Amino acid sequence: MVCRGGWGPGREVVRPQVGFVDCGRGDVIDYRRGGGKRAWMRFRARLLALGLLVFVAGPVARAGGQAPNVRIGLVRGIESVSFSGPAGVTMDVLRGEREVATAGPGEVWEVGGERGRARLADPSGERTWSVRRGFRLTPPEGEVVRVYGVEGHWDGVMDRDYRGAIEVRRGGRGRLVVVNVVDVETYLRGVVASEMPTRYPLEALKAQAVAARGQALMKAGRHRREGFDLCSGQHCQVYGGATSEDGRTDAAVSETRGEVLMYNRRLADTLYSSNCGGHTANNEDYWPGQRPVPYLRGRPDFDAEELGVELPLGEEELKQFLKYAPPVNCNQPWYGRSSAIRWWSVAPREEVAEALREEAGDFGELLDVRVTERGESGIAREVMAVGSRRLVRVRGGGAIRRALGGVNSAFVAVEPVKGEGEFPAAFVIWGAGWGHQVGMCQMGAAGLAGRGWDYREVLAKYYPGCEVVRRY
Ligand SMILES: [Zn+2]
Ligand SMILES: [Zn+2]
Repeated sequence: MVCRGGWGPGREVVRPQVGFVDCGRGDVIDYRRGGGKRAWMRFRARLLALGLLVFVAGPVARAGGQAPNVRIGLVRGIESVSFSGPAGVTMDVLRGEREVATAGPGEVWEVGGERGRARLADPSGERTWSVRRGFRLTPPEGEVVRVYGVEGHWDGVMDRDYRGAIEVRRGGRGRLVVVNVVDVETYLRGVVASEMPTRYPLEALKAQAVAARGQALMKAGRHRREGFDLCSGQHCQVYGGATSEDGRTDAAVSETRGEVLMYNRRLADTLYSSNCGGHTANNEDYWPGQRPVPYLRGRPDFDAEELGVELPLGEEELKQFLKYAPPVNCNQPWYGRSSAIRWWSVAPREEVAEALREEAGDFGELLDVRVTERGESGIAREVMAVGSRRLVRVRGGGAIRRALGGVNSAFVAVEPVKGEGEFPAAFVIWGAGWGHQVGMCQMGAAGLAGRGWDYREVLAKYYPGCEVVRRY
């Protein structure tokens, strides 16, 4: 069993007991008050006393017009889908643009796939229309189409409302694809509210709207072969449709209408993730093999002078940094899960071995796990498993996270826990933040906005060298 935990300031710091393999509450010892500024000051004083702060210079080898429409894939590979409209729905045949029928307000109609055709049926099932491509469902101006049973990223399967038009078209093997055709600005209202808590400060929501707009325009078309531009999950950006809209996020979208970030007159790849753990990562450190992107550089998510640290941190200081929750911009428990800033995971040796084998192949008995290379921000670029038969290396943030059992980020330190026998009994993974940590730190943006930064300043911090340009 893997045990996990986390903390933020103002809460008890729970440290896993050495030798801890059981998840019972009684096995967690050494509760430490704070974890916020006081604990950080104590830690800092200890570091200074021990002369652990190192000065490393140079590069670290150590390691105005119309908003365009977008096509969003909502559901793929289904046999049938039901829909209705609070104000009615008009149904056309795709391509032919021939109107076939009109659903009254609240009537539930269905489209099914059969023998290479799409079949529309009225509520009684008595009247049906069978066509080759599919149907377009359009609500009256300003209204929505309700699609029943759409799987969401955060909130499971539910009935969801969408603005714009819905296309139900035939995909492969007689299955259907449901696509929402909507203008980018309307799409963003359903994205910003899904990708960032709507209670975040308005300037953070505006920074999120600009970043999300850039991602939509840059990634549109990546699902073209499936019949749409973007999916509605985390792969592209989470989109909850009109159901997830909120007045605050709507305002963030409309107040930044058409604005994107440009670098050297080209659209910038405005990646973002939940929590950087205190330092954002270089794109090539998380995705080895990528070319360094000038505006996706790892940056401390704190004022180094204010915090009294010299960057980069050495391996030992880094471990300490990962065990405490320093007062960095994204250490904002009132804006989100306190465990996002710091977390830990204790896993029995055999479970770690299993996950590592799946990622890197067999290596015999697992003897040790080491972070062998770090990026400038401190994230692990390479993790090595020392096996009885051979060494295996795992490179890249995604692979490292999977190899360590699906942990929140690659900003980690791994410590073996001695067992009775010759092998370690378990491994403790100390981690910071959530997500790939490249580009904007969403919780950091909230922290900065909470301190009075406006969205342009927030964007300039996380995407250095980019400028805000209005595209339409
Ligand atoms: Zn996608
Ligand atoms: Zn951060």
